[in-house]
Amino acid sequence: MRVYVTGNITVDETWEIDELPLKGSSIHGKKHSQDIGGKGANQAIILSRCGINTSLIAATGDDNDGRWIRDVIIQENLCLLPTSSLPVHTDTSIIFNIADGDNAIITTTEAADALDLATVAQALESAVPGDVLLQQGNFPLEKTRAIFQLARDKQMITVFNPSPVKSGFAQLWSLIDIAVLNQLEAQQLQPVLTRAASTLVITTGASGAWLYQQQQRHFVPATPTTAIDSTGAGDTFLAVMLASALRRNVNIDQLALTHAASAAAITVSRRGTLSAFPTHSELTVLLNRDQQAAN
Ligand code: ATP
Repeated sequence: MRVYVTGNITVDETWEIDELPLKGSSIHGKKHSQDIGGKGANQAIILSRCGINTSLIAATGDDNDGRWIRDVIIQENLCLLPTSSLPVHTDTSIIFNIADGDNAIITTTEAADALDLATVAQALESAVPGDVLLQQGNFPLEKTRAIFQLARDKQMITVFNPSPVKSGFAQLWSLIDIAVLNQLEAQQLQPVLTRAASTLVITTGASGAWLYQQQQRHFVPATPTTAIDSTGAGDTFLAVMLASALRRNVNIDQLALTHAASAAAITVSRRGTLSAFPTHSELTVLLNRDQQAAN
């Protein structure tokens, strides 16, 4: 069994500035860190750290950032498709942390936009029924729909994390087996509860997450921790929840959400994105905790 994640991969540069520059002005800032980012990449890396065979279908550019990303991906034991770069710039997110505590983000989508449907179809060529296709909200509606349709045609299990939300995503529920959203996304995509996938998970930040399945709902509380930086909490939660269920060959269940909450608590207790994610050894210990221990 293999999970195919289609989405974006970026180089995230975090800068500290006193305030946003006014048009026409020039200011000083401090580059704080550089990390791999992008929801697709984050989720694929965590799945791989959970021991799941994972392919990330995402475009990298023919530049130094692209080469750096491809090196990191190899170290994470991930298969990156397409294997070669595209003749574009690698996508970048510039995150400005402003002294008043607010932030502002600029993200490029040149590489993600260059990934066409034919390339995705080629990357999915060896997928078999029962494999999983996981997608986020980075692509336009029609491309997102077409990729889920490809997966349906191959009898894959489809998982959708519609973030960032685009208008029209609510039309896709009939193509989705498992949907994972945060509270705001759930509000934006109403009527989510009546028409959504057969398994629906709504995360509610520091309080926990709801699992909706077969007309029943269960709440799994968050694992208490001292929160330092919540970036990547949602990606950690989704990937570990999915990995927990796949490793046990069951549908998403309360234990999968419990494992996910423990892993997300590790991420929020550390600063950064990739550097904050639980390691392979932490995830191995956590995923081996059984139902009794988890309760
Ligand atoms: P993000 O966009 O920040 O990555 P998200 O908005 O997609 O996250 P959230 O609902 O904020 O998702 O968080 C996902 C899960 O992470 C929650 O269900 C919870 O288990 C865990 N989590 C988030 N914040 C905290 C916190 N402060 N303490 C403990 N666990 C947390």
